[in-house]
Amino acid sequence: MKVLVAVKRVVDYNVKVRAKADGSAVDLANVKMAINPFCEIAVEEAVRLKEKGVATEVVVVSIGPKACQEQIRTALALGADRGIQVEVEGDLQPLAIARLLNGVVAKEQPDLIILGKQSIDGDNNQTGQMLAALGSMGQGTFASELVVEDGKVKVTREVDAGLQTLSITTPAVVTADLRLNEPRYASLPNIMKAKKKQLDVYSPADLGVEVSGNIKILKVEPPAERQAGIKVESVEQLVDKLKNEAKVI
Ligand code: AMP
Repeated sequence: MKVLVAVKRVVDYNVKVRAKADGSAVDLANVKMAINPFCEIAVEEAVRLKEKGVATEVVVVSIGPKACQEQIRTALALGADRGIQVEVEGDLQPLAIARLLNGVVAKEQPDLIILGKQSIDGDNNQTGQMLAALGSMGQGTFASELVVEDGKVKVTREVDAGLQTLSITTPAVVTADLRLNEPRYASLPNIMKAKKKQLDVYSPADLGVEVSGNIKILKVEPPAERQAGIKVESVEQLVDKLKNEAKVI
């Protein structure tokens, strides 16, 4: 089984993001970037499938400027076999990403495509679903367990009412939720080995895809600053403040 994993370069989750002064976008100057955490979980799951002998090859793909090769190399250090970068400048919307991924799927013909459930920068939660629709593939989103059985992909999903288990024919799209696994750290020898692994670069034209946007970001602004709290002396004072100042009771 060939597995394709999509990884996105995003601002590291430890960084406190700032909006640009003109409110046009998030300020990315001198900011630490990393693999989107849900994509790291997707890579880990694919590598585990390879270690179990279920996956024969794990190919990782990232769409973005040359810098996203760093995240591809990290995924290769975690155990993926080969990388693909689709070189695109500027911010792309989920539909454009899904179209480009669909182009990679057409070239690579994977049996299973694993994505993160969501990218932590745009919080879109759209790409996996759109990719499945474009490729007429079955999908299992928010996966907390993934098993390959009798050539089918069994996915357990955390839904409001409990756990839902699906059996999906291949090729299948799965999006990884937080509890799917705990990703490993890349060891130094594996980081060195990853530098030598194959990494192909395609343009959207190579994939026969034209990227155009139909959404425009109008404004990016930080949330309102939280006001400092105060300590009250007694329960009576708390009740009084809730009633007469906050007017919530
Ligand atoms: P989103 O729909 O933006 O929340 O992203 C969901 C998932 O789609 C991510 O976790 C990635 O697996 C994949 N994805 C989104 N953008 C990219 C990108 N630029 N390159 C590769 N994969 C991406």
